[in-house]
Amino acid sequence: MAVLVFDNPPGDGVNRGIMNKKDIYKFCPLCGGQFVKKRLVANEPERLVCSSCEFVFYLDPKLVACTIAETSNGIVLQRRNKEPKTGQWVLPGGFVDRGETLQEAAKREFFEETGLHTKIHSLLGNYSYPGEANIIIVYKSEIIGGTIRPCHESMSIDEFKKKDIPWDELAFDTTKKALKKYIEES
Ligand SMILES: [Zn+2]
Repeated sequence: MAVLVFDNPPGDGVNRGIMNKKDIYKFCPLCGGQFVKKRLVANEPERLVCSSCEFVFYLDPKLVACTIAETSNGIVLQRRNKEPKTGQWVLPGGFVDRGETLQEAAKREFFEETGLHTKIHSLLGNYSYPGEANIIIVYKSEIIGGTIRPCHESMSIDEFKKKDIPWDELAFDTTKKALKKYIEES
């Protein structure tokens, strides 16, 4: 089982965990006024409202598109080189850009992170959690080209036979749930 490793992987400096910390936003992006928290509609969460221009800053969910795909050596996973869960394994994937389709994002992220081109077969599942900003969409895909290589966001890329999945070293609940479902369905 070949493991490709970066000697000194550069971090991208982006802490994705920041998306869940609504208290970090203090000032209105339109006028620079101070935000205050207000409940605008009963039974809805408090919103950040500008105390000067009344702009409402909605903290929307973030969409993440991930892929499960196999080479002849197994399922392709990447080992994270940044917090949270540094050193643990995840499905290649990442944030969907505004205006991009989910499928385009899944293919783009998989290529950026592994060097491999994919064709999407089907939706495996979607995963969301109370209090969490990220909603994760997982596709089942086929690898149609490219050469495997790690990117700056991973320590290494590896391929795992189904019997060799490192269950105790998977980074997130979604990684475990999606791989379990994939294996059950295949
Ligand atoms: Zn404002």
